[in-house]
Amino acid sequence: MQCPCHSGLSYPECCELYHIGKELPESALQLMRSRYSAYVKKNADYIIKTTHPDNPSFLANREEWKESILFFCNRTEFRNLKIIEVLEGNQESFVTFFAHLFQNGKDTSFQESSRFYKVGDRWLYHSGTLETP
Ligand SMILES: [Zn+2]
Repeated sequence: MQCPCHSGLSYPECCELYHIGKELPESALQLMRSRYSAYVKKNADYIIKTTHPDNPSFLANREEWKESILFFCNRTEFRNLKIIEVLEGNQESFVTFFAHLFQNGKDTSFQESSRFYKVGDRWLYHSGTLETP
């Protein structure tokens, strides 16, 4: 099976390594891709685990947060992921991507510039700014 992040690799060779905790993403780009795959796989725990505590939608109530992630996953058809731009730093990185999504037959695609911070040995998603493609 192809990895849902559209890397062209198989899932076990790609994002599954991060989802099962066998490896840590080495870059913000890998983390970003693995988060996209986690949405496709409805793996809310992974989304939560890789979100920086300073993220605006970080919720102390994990169950509530998990439910809202799953609600989004269940009503969304994930069609494609395109990486537009990557600026990798040692502690802070930016990835701009285009997510091709559909909800109830409507195109809800968006382009986002995401900010990532490295905390210890882990890259975490900090926040995102929507952009006009
Ligand atoms: Zn992948």
